[in-house]
Amino acid sequence: MARRNKVYEGKAKILYEGPEPGTLVQYFKDDATAFNAEKKATIEGKGVLNNRLSEFFMTGLAQIGVPTHFIKRLNMREQLIRQVEIIPLEVIVRNFAAGSLSKRLGIEEGTALPRPIVEFCLKDDKLGDPLVSEEHIMAFGWAEQRDLDDMVALALRVNDFMSGMMLAVGIKLVDFKIEIGRVWDNDFMRLIVADEISPDSCRLWDIESGQKLDKDVFRRDLGSLTDAYTEVARRLGVLPSNVTHAPKPTLIN
Ligand code: UDP
Repeated sequence: MARRNKVYEGKAKILYEGPEPGTLVQYFKDDATAFNAEKKATIEGKGVLNNRLSEFFMTGLAQIGVPTHFIKRLNMREQLIRQVEIIPLEVIVRNFAAGSLSKRLGIEEGTALPRPIVEFCLKDDKLGDPLVSEEHIMAFGWAEQRDLDDMVALALRVNDFMSGMMLAVGIKLVDFKIEIGRVWDNDFMRLIVADEISPDSCRLWDIESGQKLDKDVFRRDLGSLTDAYTEVARRLGVLPSNVTHAPKPTLIN
């Protein structure tokens, strides 16, 4: 296979030049990091699961008219994506209190929020991705007011879609993070969902038991991360159900 040029390597993914201008190949690694990369591990199979799950969510979003960077899955670990200019902000949507919101405001984890809350964090590992206000964003030119309105609207549509998908399989979407990029079609700029949507960037709790099925399993040493992500994929029908756990066929008289 021809050697491809690496464009960027992040903590969980690598981007290579794509086969055509304006495209990239996104490779999902097995590496997991938490607490701004203070905690690291390689978790076999995580990349394969996230490649599939991100494909599943992005394809569903496209079907309801939410634009994303996803073009097609190429193999177990790689997908073809549209090249975007990433806006240097993490867009977080919260339905229930957890993580940094609970710590910052002293709200017990799991408390239902009166409405979905959208937050922005500056994408800067050295600063630990600090929370920023719309005032900061506009003053420092990270995005314009019109972009911000579009970003909030996109994030809330993703929230509705993801919450519904998860609810249907007995999972509560507590919160998630997305990244958004700019693309140009001729002179017309628009914003699309980029990066990934996977249990690495969501909080997913089983509705019945409260069991965590997301990266908190790794952050908080709660068991096997692969098992948790496999469970999410299995419930969504992204992976065939585990044959060893499938009920035996029953004879119908
Ligand atoms: N998140 C993420 N990447 C980050 C920070 C947060 O994907 O760099 C996700 C995280 O998995 C959770 C949501 O964004 O689903 C909210 O995270 P929070 O602000 O509570 O931060 P944390 O407690 O994870 O530090």
